Amino acid sequence: MGASTTAAAKATAIPDGTTDYKPMRFGKHDPGKVHISELPMTRFNWYKHINWLNTILIIFIPMMGFVSSYWVSVNPKTLLFAVFYYYHCGLGITAGYHRLWAHSSYKANTPLKIYLAACGAGAVQGSARWWSMKHRAHHRYTDTVKDPCSVRKGLLYSHIGWMVLKQNPQNTGRTDITDLNEDPVLVWQHRHYLKSVITMALIVPTLVCGLGWGDWLGGYVYAGILRICFLQQATFCVNSLAHWLGEQPFDDRNSPRDHLITALVTLGEGYHNFHHEFPSDYRNAIEWYQYDPTKWAIVIWKYLGLAYDLKQFRANEIERSRVQQMQKKLDKKRTGLDWGTPLRQLPVVNWDDYVDQAKNGKTLIAVAGVIHDVTDFIKDHPGGKALITSAIGKDATAIFNGGVYNHSNAAHNLLSTMRFENKDITYANDSDGQRIVRAGSQVTKVSQPVASVDVA
Ligand SMILES: [Zn+2]
Ligand SMILES: [Zn+2]
Repeated sequence: MGASTTAAAKATAIPDGTTDYKPMRFGKHDPGKVHISELPMTRFNWYKHINWLNTILIIFIPMMGFVSSYWVSVNPKTLLFAVFYYYHCGLGITAGYHRLWAHSSYKANTPLKIYLAACGAGAVQGSARWWSMKHRAHHRYTDTVKDPCSVRKGLLYSHIGWMVLKQNPQNTGRTDITDLNEDPVLVWQHRHYLKSVITMALIVPTLVCGLGWGDWLGGYVYAGILRICFLQQATFCVNSLAHWLGEQPFDDRNSPRDHLITALVTLGEGYHNFHHEFPSDYRNAIEWYQYDPTKWAIVIWKYLGLAYDLKQFRANEIERSRVQQMQKKLDKKRTGLDWGTPLRQLPVVNWDDYVDQAKNGKTLIAVAGVIHDVTDFIKDHPGGKALITSAIGKDATAIFNGGVYNHSNAAHNLLSTMRFENKDITYANDSDGQRIVRAGSQVTKVSQPVASVDVA
């Protein structure tokens, strides 16, 4: 009672839209005391930094599984069942914990919820309530100090370190899970989590393999412990690999990425750049050829009447994000290229001055009102030296654009890098800093007469 009053007071004190502020455990944390995670790890205090319960569940028990597999022979039926059970427990996490509860991307009826909560318990990754709370904080505070599994703290930290090491609860971002507290299936699973885990992760696979084909020990080691280990590592890849490997087609301001390898490992959760942009979409992969078995399962459940209200982002918004990201990449690439001196920065040169300078040895050619210094290019001109030399000191607009040869787009680009800046000239500017353009010096002025199209 006292704890919930404190929680309510904290929720009011920090008006960030969070209405749920119930920590997982009450009474242990003293806000006045420095948390162990804030202190450097030394050889005297390292064991205090370790979250021993998580370490046993995700490191020691799997190690025991690997060691015991040396003495326990592999039964093909057990192996087949282990793979089959792996996919069901995997869906418990991806379709249940993640897309149904953490993101409410679709709705499920009670039998489907019970199936997902049971399979999720078999994956040994905490209760759906705890998992969803952490995952919502991961989305809300991606890549910041409040992201519980931020990849900015290192790939290994985002994969497993954040669970093996103790975290200061004051640093983890707050999230609202009032909706999850109203779901009786989740509340039951959270209250009876330990019983659920032991039953679904170890007893069920042992019983199936033992009663089915007499492989009690194999069921326990392969379909139980080792299956848990592989499934845990695969799911952890969503926090690590999916924030490190692949493309960013929708936004590159944060770390989430799309990659087939991550998708293959995580039952389709590898299109993580899309997912972080459109988290309430029940899909992770939007193309039909991309691997997203979690999406396929949800669609099948919809046809079976078990799932409904599947949420999809509007295709228009998805494509807008994709185009904006393409544009951003294009702009970045564009800025790295030489586009020639911008026309507005070029000096305005009197036509007679241009002709004089060309006569006095400068290799200048005017094309479309822009003077180009071709000194270094003459010897490389693909059309030979003679043709380009014949245009020096003249208006070569027509010659360049088909009069002699209709130059390619690449030639136009190359020419733009030779714009004559004439660093010797100083310009007169008016009091507003605008360059003064005198009569006869306008950029549109061409001194040589141009043949009229309507000559009689
Ligand atoms: Zn993520
Ligand atoms: Zn998510």
